[in-house]
Amino acid sequence: MIKKFFEEISQVPRASFSEQAISDYLVNFAEQRGLRFIQDEKSNVIIFKDASAGYEHHPVVMLQSHMDMVAEKNQDSDHDFENDPIDLIEKDGWLYANKTTLGADDGAGVAYMLAVLDDRELRHPALECVFTVEEEVGMGGAHHLDTSELKATRLIGLDSGGEKLVTISSSGGNRGVVTYPIKYERSHKQQLVLRVRGLKGGHSGVEIDQERANAVKVMGKVLVRLAHEFNLGFSSIEGGLKDNAIMRECNLVLGLKEEEEQAVIERVKHLEKDFQEVYSESDSGLRIECEVVAKACYSLSVDATRELAKLLALLPYGPIQKSLVIEDLVIASSNIGRIETTENNVMLGLSMRSPHAFTLADINLQVELISELCGAHVEFSNGYPGWVYDPESELRTIITDTYRELRGEEMILEATHGGLELGVWKEKMPQLDIAAFGPIMEDIHTPDERLNLDSFARSYEHLVKVLERL
Ligand SMILES: [Zn+2]
Repeated sequence: MIKKFFEEISQVPRASFSEQAISDYLVNFAEQRGLRFIQDEKSNVIIFKDASAGYEHHPVVMLQSHMDMVAEKNQDSDHDFENDPIDLIEKDGWLYANKTTLGADDGAGVAYMLAVLDDRELRHPALECVFTVEEEVGMGGAHHLDTSELKATRLIGLDSGGEKLVTISSSGGNRGVVTYPIKYERSHKQQLVLRVRGLKGGHSGVEIDQERANAVKVMGKVLVRLAHEFNLGFSSIEGGLKDNAIMRECNLVLGLKEEEEQAVIERVKHLEKDFQEVYSESDSGLRIECEVVAKACYSLSVDATRELAKLLALLPYGPIQKSLVIEDLVIASSNIGRIETTENNVMLGLSMRSPHAFTLADINLQVELISELCGAHVEFSNGYPGWVYDPESELRTIITDTYRELRGEEMILEATHGGLELGVWKEKMPQLDIAAFGPIMEDIHTPDERLNLDSFARSYEHLVKVLERL
């Protein structure tokens, strides 16, 4: 049945922001089975199913998945995500799509919930099945959903994978834009152009624990030294596109006096060596290119250049706190992902993360204090809430006990430094005991996305057994 439902929803286009058709499919599904439902103005859908006989007094359970999918395709695909069904291909026990994302993230969770709603033989408490829109593009559906009709005290998240992994916490996070006002006061006949290159970069919710260099931090540390030793004037800086990506490349232009040229170049070469040594394990490709260009430019005063250099050198980047419960899990971090120079400002984009609201506020405060000290100004976005590990979770114990009995091995506790909808549910419904699991999928969000069909069946069996025990 789960495969049949997955095939059915694959017929309905459901890229993020284009969920009306799949939302209506879900409503139709509920109507055909006489199940109570709510479809809100954003097209989120909740379907309710009564408790089976004997479970009437058991605590209500919420199941959660998102109906939207990431729309990615290969360049040689003419797939139209607005109109075409996903073309499914089965090969060696895996389900693929033809040159597009498969949508197993999170079509697998949707199919599980439809199968549970459809099957009258199953034994379970009263169910509240929540299907959200726009999860992949900022969790807009979950943020918007009115939860006043929901009575659940337990939530099984089905936007998860790995089969033997049980997700037990996710991070909260927000963004900050730091603005440093600039006024050009000097002019130079030649420019010193510096480029940080050869870094690995990565996602700030995934690779922040890898000790990788951030291009603007390297540049800031170079600038803070050069600005104190020489008469250089800041002219412009740029790097990065996304706040949540570790910056891989950064370009800096400084106004340079001819008589300092040789000494500055020598100094940069030394600094390059020093940074190559520091990052020899994590970013062995690091290099700092240095070029003198005979081109006029305007620059900031020496003092303003030093203030800006301080700001770049001091703004926090990297892991700030690690978990002692989950190995290698970062539970607080900051990243600088973007820097650009406009007519009147240098602007930096930061992404801060922590499952703990206070810790997140504390990182924000640090960014604010440093900005103030260096003559800059910062504005923060609202962000998304985290879900903190609960050592007492009964739901998790039931899920892991059931798995041990079914498979004869232990589940692995999994926590993410990325954001999940589960953080939003925990904030809206603090009474919820939450855990999440799902089948093995690989390369999600890419045209190579695939779902392991045996695992798809096994995780469903696991879910059914867990529901019986709740
Ligand atoms: Zn997902």
